[in-house]
Amino acid sequence: MSTYKTNRTIIGQLPSGSDLYEELSKFVVREDILLGRIQGIGAVTQAKIAYYDQGKNEYIALEFSGGMEILSLTGNISMREGKPFVHAHIILGDREGKTFGGHLLAGTKIFACELSIEEFDGEQLIRTKDEKTGLFLWNSGQLQ
Ligand code: ZN
Repeated sequence: MSTYKTNRTIIGQLPSGSDLYEELSKFVVREDILLGRIQGIGAVTQAKIAYYDQGKNEYIALEFSGGMEILSLTGNISMREGKPFVHAHIILGDREGKTFGGHLLAGTKIFACELSIEEFDGEQLIRTKDEKTGLFLWNSGQLQ
């Protein structure tokens, strides 16, 4: 277990019409944020998210079109294959207030997105393939 101190807190918005996952990934690489926490709200014009099938160890992509609210975008930044990697989940709401969500994929288009990103100082968390789950998990940081 490691402890961390917040270095920078960045607050801003991503451009309308851009791809949420791609823009977020480009931003953290450009800003060299090696470890961090992401929070956001806003709206999208289409979404591509995924559900992880724990039996098959694979992601099943889900696509939605039309305007939806980003009720919650939450995620983290850690290292994968030598560069900062964004792992984010999103809860979306439709015009009836119904919610759905999943693992954020490229293919989600921003209508508006207000973000807060906290950068932490401390030991890096590095993602490596975990054979049991099939996921790229942190290879350290067990809380036991
Ligand atoms: Zn995920």
